[in-house]
Amino acid sequence: MHEFRLPGVTHFGWGAVEKAGEEAARLGRRALLVTGRSAMKETGVADRVTKLLLDASVAVVLFTGVESDPRAGTVDRGAAVATAEGCDLVIGLGGGSPMDAARAIAAMAVLEGSVLDYLRGKPIDRPGLPLMNIATTAGTASEITPVAVILDEGRALKFGVKSPYWFAKVAITDPELTLSMLPALTAATGLDALTHAVESYLSTGATPPSKALAIRAVAMIGANLPAAYAEGTNRTAREGMAMGSMLAGMAFANAGLGLVHGLVHPLGARHGLSHGNACGRLLPYVMRFNLAAVDQELREVGGALTGDPAATAEDAIAAVERLLQTVNVPRGLADVAIPEADMPALARDGLLAGAVRTNPRQVSEEESLALLEEARRG
Ligand code: FE
Repeated sequence: MHEFRLPGVTHFGWGAVEKAGEEAARLGRRALLVTGRSAMKETGVADRVTKLLLDASVAVVLFTGVESDPRAGTVDRGAAVATAEGCDLVIGLGGGSPMDAARAIAAMAVLEGSVLDYLRGKPIDRPGLPLMNIATTAGTASEITPVAVILDEGRALKFGVKSPYWFAKVAITDPELTLSMLPALTAATGLDALTHAVESYLSTGATPPSKALAIRAVAMIGANLPAAYAEGTNRTAREGMAMGSMLAGMAFANAGLGLVHGLVHPLGARHGLSHGNACGRLLPYVMRFNLAAVDQELREVGGALTGDPAATAEDAIAAVERLLQTVNVPRGLADVAIPEADMPALARDGLLAGAVRTNPRQVSEEESLALLEEARRG
């Protein structure tokens, strides 16, 4: 037996953002609109969504300035604003950070205490305010998943928290909103999506439906990331990336992830690497570490990436390394200034994430350190 969950409704396609008004009106009357620092203003997407909401008679309270890697303090502040302003709906607009923040804010507007309590394991026992997430990147798939990654700034630790209550009521994945991403962001978010697809395919939590979605996502991301990176206005590539990212999100929302998604959290929290960039750097190392446990699945990943049904697990790793080269993201950590003394803490904290529990091969602290040392050598 297995279960499979998704957002209430997902709107996918060119112009899907136009659904925001009518969907919001279905969910509430006064929305907290959560966005990041700058990009939304520059591209006009925040103004466009605000107008759609107002036209649908939904009042808008803006909560802007969510940092990349949203802080627990930001989430608590957002929840306080939602409560003080009488919001009955939360809308996240942007990449993973604002959408994750929106999810946690919607939850904390109803739960007591600080989001820190829940990062530390307090049970989430009820639904939050209704949530609509609108993605402007093709990577995190936070519009699809029930996960929020939050930074505990006091301890410099990032935590992924999830709950079956945390699926959005409405998810909007509109490739048009991804056209303005610059190449480096396209690369990082695309490699995050690829890592979701590969890790959920290899996960011990994988099921037939999640694997069907994950392997298709591997193929779509492999086929479309180079063109989306090289030519941002290539609509076919942008649509392929948006679809691949969404399918990967549907897979990992249910199957879970793996060791990459543990190891990257402390690298982000302590060394400022962006989530997607760090995922790409470590993916080949973790694939090799997992090889003995999931040789067959890695062959299938290789087949999806190369189109060659006879591909080996080594071919899969080589294909990921070629993709990294194509989008100018280094493999490993050789160019990141990580002091030797920091390595044991990175290895230890990298195992804290729930994602590590569904990695196909069990990993000890020594193995975690050995893998990171190898990545550090490059
Ligand atoms: Fe991720």
